[in-house]
Parts: sequence; structure tokens; C-alpha cells
Amino acid sequence: MAIEEMAELIQVLMKYPRKENHSTLNEVIEEIVDVDIMLEQLKMIFITDAYAEIQYSEFRQLKLKRLEEMLKGDEP
Ligand SMILES: [Mg+2]
Repeated sequence: MAIEEMAELIQVLMKYPRKENHSTLNEVIEEIVDVDIMLEQLKMIFITDAYAEIQYSEFRQLKLKRLEEMLKGDEP
């Protein structure tokens, strides 16, 4: 189920730049919602104890920091 929803989001994201309008934007938003709900379910399944919560938080912080640094690097 999660994989199917993610594949649907990939499909609409690939289609969107070729045809940008309200209809394709709505498709992207709908699939973002589906994946968001799937991610919440995956977290409920896999983040079930203190160890997993700490690992999740540490990976999240690390990756947000990397993204922030990457975005700073793109500034002129
Ligand atoms: Mg979907």
C-alpha cells in the first residue's frame, strides 16, 4: 500500500512539469496527502519504542541540517 501510494506520487510529479494547471496540481496535492497518511502509518508501525524514536529524531535532524546547508550553498 505505501509503495503504491509513493509510486502514484512519483507519477504525478513526473507528469506535472509537462502540464502545469489546476487539475495536475490537484493530482499532486491529492497524492501528497496519500503519502503523508502512509508515512504516518509507517511511523506507527516502525517507530514503536524509545530506541526507534531517538533514531528517527537523530536522522531527521541530520537530514534537515544537510538540506539547510545545501540550500545555503546555492545562495549567490
Ligand atoms: Mg494515491
